[in-house]
Formats: sequence, C-alpha cells, structure tokens
Amino acid sequence: MIRISCDVHTHTLASRHAYSTIDENVRAAAEQNFEVLGSTDHFSGMLYPERDVRNFQFFFNVKSWPREWHGVTLLHGCEADIVDGDGHLFGCDIPVDREINGAPLKHPTTLKKRVFRDCDYVIASIHRKDFTLGQTPAQNAQMYVNALQDPKVFILGHLGRSGVDFELDPVLEAARDLGKLIELNEASLSDSWKRDKSLAPCRHIAERCAELGVQVSFGSDSHISCGIARYENVRKLLEDIDFPNELVACRSKEAFLAAARAALPDFAL
Ligand SMILES: [Zn+2]
Ligand SMILES: [Zn+2]
Repeated sequence: MIRISCDVHTHTLASRHAYSTIDENVRAAAEQNFEVLGSTDHFSGMLYPERDVRNFQFFFNVKSWPREWHGVTLLHGCEADIVDGDGHLFGCDIPVDREINGAPLKHPTTLKKRVFRDCDYVIASIHRKDFTLGQTPAQNAQMYVNALQDPKVFILGHLGRSGVDFELDPVLEAARDLGKLIELNEASLSDSWKRDKSLAPCRHIAERCAELGVQVSFGSDSHISCGIARYENVRKLLEDIDFPNELVACRSKEAFLAAARAALPDFAL
C-alpha cells in the first residue's frame, strides 16, 4: 500500500482564492499524521493587477514561521507561474528597487529573485496556456525543461491538468537527470470538472515516470484546510499502476528532504 506523508503543494489565504490560514493548514496536516507540509502560495499575475513588490510581501517574512509546528515540519515555497514559451517564471521581468516601506534598495533586484530568495523550493506551473498554443510539442517540452533548470525549481506542478501539448519523455528525462520531481496532484483528480480531462494524462505521466525512473511529488493543491494531506485519488492511481514506492519522494520526510538536498544547491534543511 502506498503511503504518503508529505503534502508539498498547498495554499493559504495569501493566494486570495484560498480560504485557510497557515496555522489551520499545519493543524490539518498534523491530524492526518503527515510529517511535512509545504506551503506554496501562488506567485503569479493572477493575484493583483499591479506588479508592485508590496503585493507580494507575504512571502518576505516566512522566516518567522516555526520549522516544527504541531509536530509537522513546515517548508515554505511558492507556486510560480511559467509565463512564456521559453519557460520564464513570473516576476523575472519585474524590477524591484524599493523595500516594502518605500526605502530605496542598495542592490536593485527582480521580484522573482526577491521572492525566491526566501523559498525553500519552488513549484513551476502553467495556469494560462495561451502562449504554448503557437509552439510545437518539442518547444513546449523545452519550455518545461528550461523552467526545471532554475536552481530553485524543484517540482513541475500539475503537468497532466494544464492542457499543454508537449513531448513528455524529454521533460521526464530532464527531471530525472536533475533529480527534480514531477507532481501528482490530488486536486486534478478529485474535482469532478478537472478529473474528466485530467485522469488519462495524469495516469499516462505516472506510468511513464515509473518506466523512466523519475521521482514524483505529492500535492493536494488544496485551497482550504480540510483538503490538506488528503490523497485518496493519487493513492488509487499509484496503486492501480503498481507505482514503485521508492520513486515517491513524499513517502517520508527523510526521502523528501534527501531529494531536495540533492537537487537544490541552497536547500538548507
Ligand atoms: Zn490556486
Ligand atoms: Zn496550486
């Protein structure tokens, strides 16, 4: 039986279309006997129309979070949008030359660098696929590979749900060679309107990960605390295809942290 104990794709109130606090999410993970919760609010243009650093300040004080809370190891990251066909991530072209209090920065930076600096890891996802439509499946694969090469990106989020036409194997092989993870996303399989179109591609991706030896991560992608650490549909999918347990990076805290240390140059746990 597949056992998962790390939920590393979750949302809080800071994502604006999500409803729970970080405390509520950590408690929910503890109630399910999970070892690790990764909180990954959206880092995306869908949050605010203004590209102003002050709108993203909820990412800037995460060092105040306890690492161990209610018996759960708490990681902080973000879910960054892939914003163009080359795999660039949200915020890379947004200059930041001021602190949130308006004081000038001695070393101007970009919003992406500012937010990524305090992230343990980043999930790269597509929420708008319009820019992929004019590209070939090979180009869209290269887009994902480019995103994976960012030193903070550890996980490709909900690949089976995004509806992008891409060549799968080059993306999975790049993830494997970089030691990075392909996400199995519970929300893609539990919400009925997502499930109908996502189940077949998610299953195919999982089967190919097993064949190619690619590690997978687990994310409930829950936007409310009662969905945190719930994985009935992902478990069923993995058991249906007899997925090898050792490729499930979220099977234990030890396995997830070891994978992160191996893949991310500045992962500090
Ligand atoms: Zn969301
Ligand atoms: Zn999400």
